[in-house]
Amino acid sequence: MTGPRWEARWHYEIRDLASLPPVRDWLRQARRRLRPRRDCCRYHRVDWHAVSAAAIRIALQAQPSGTPPEDAAGAITPASCGLDGEDIEALGDLLTPENGIQVDDDDPHAQHVYEGRHRVTAMRDAGVRRTVILRPELIEVSGDPR
Ligand SMILES: [Zn+2]
Repeated sequence: MTGPRWEARWHYEIRDLASLPPVRDWLRQARRRLRPRRDCCRYHRVDWHAVSAAAIRIALQAQPSGTPPEDAAGAITPASCGLDGEDIEALGDLLTPENGIQVDDDDPHAQHVYEGRHRVTAMRDAGVRRTVILRPELIEVSGDPR
């Protein structure tokens, strides 16, 4: 006799950067004291225009076909997305549950980005307008099949 079990089912959501909550980015504040913005870190070297465009394309293909984000992210290859190096790594992270950007904005008075804050900063710095975030939906999984 076990109680209900819960599982997160993930799905992609395409969002305007402008619609995401503001980010308090401590890493950026610390680093900018030391170095100019463009050399900040590996996230600031990623081509977020190309990465976000590829992510949006993959999310738009995955959703109508019912492909879960885990599988869509696992299927990325240099040939399928046209990226390599740090860019393809960034794309993989962006599209993988738990590594993607996650936002809690259900309550309009308590909205925040709780995963991917520095990536949001880097995208905003690069002037990217839209990207893909991941949203979990909790599903009750029955432990007793009939
Ligand atoms: Zn940075």
